[in-house]
Amino acid sequence: MKAKMIQPRSLPLALPIFLYIMLASAQLTAAQDFDAVEIKATHVRGNIYMLEGSGGNIGVSIGADGILMVDDQFAPLAEKIKKALTDLGGGKLHFLLNTHWHGDHTGGNEIFGKSTTIIAHENVRARLTTEQTSFGRTIPAKSKDGWPVITLDKSLSIHFNGENIEVIHYPHGHTDGDIVIFFSGSNVVHMGDDFFSGRFPYVDLDHGGDVKTLVETIGLIIGRLPDDVKIIPGHGPLSNLDDLKKYHRMLKETSNLVHQKMQAGKTLEQITKQGLPAEWDGWSWSFIPTESWIETIYQSYSK
Ligand SMILES: [Zn+2]
Repeated sequence: MKAKMIQPRSLPLALPIFLYIMLASAQLTAAQDFDAVEIKATHVRGNIYMLEGSGGNIGVSIGADGILMVDDQFAPLAEKIKKALTDLGGGKLHFLLNTHWHGDHTGGNEIFGKSTTIIAHENVRARLTTEQTSFGRTIPAKSKDGWPVITLDKSLSIHFNGENIEVIHYPHGHTDGDIVIFFSGSNVVHMGDDFFSGRFPYVDLDHGGDVKTLVETIGLIIGRLPDDVKIIPGHGPLSNLDDLKKYHRMLKETSNLVHQKMQAGKTLEQITKQGLPAEWDGWSWSFIPTESWIETIYQSYSK
């Protein structure tokens, strides 16, 4: 997720103007609010902790080998994140994994990267080392300290803190560079923004995201997870397999519904007006209200 999440082309149709203005100023607001953000640490299981503050959920492995961290939220939170790591027992931060390129997951890269090895999918390195455009805004390349130095194409194993940490790339989900991290010994998985728990996801269609492949990816991941796994979503509370299955059913049912209406010749305006089944009302939220989710599906199937 990023501070501003709605595709610019969707704004005039799908969003009231006040919401557009709110989104346009979201980063500024967020910057002002960082002082008030507290980093909350939750023990997930075994070596693994989850840190919540502002931005994407952070996963941490702490043990005899030191620390491995997944994602780093925003730069102004880096000192608070370091303190949280110290409070958990500290140790050297050896590795930082970026689940994807968005700024609410990589904002601290230039700070942590000074003394830590950053690992990401090769498409993430490509985006972080060059200027990007998102929502009509230019996002400058990160300085060298913030670049991933180890990249993967399909998968990577990290043997750390007594377990095999399996890093797997699933193409074209939330973006074109998403990785999912399986802490196989602790039986915990960090899913990055392929999983928004209990809410409609943001799918970054302008940077390789795709609704259809995201649905397939979630099915593949469910197929390899044990029943009692604990799941750190990119956004939302610590979750379990039932939560992921419900998210999968939402993705399948809502995208099939919109796609069927498209095939029946309905316009986006007509589909939006008809809305989604009431079962999914609670999945609408400030950044991705129902009409934006419908439009994301529509745009993804129009590609
Ligand atoms: Zn994201």
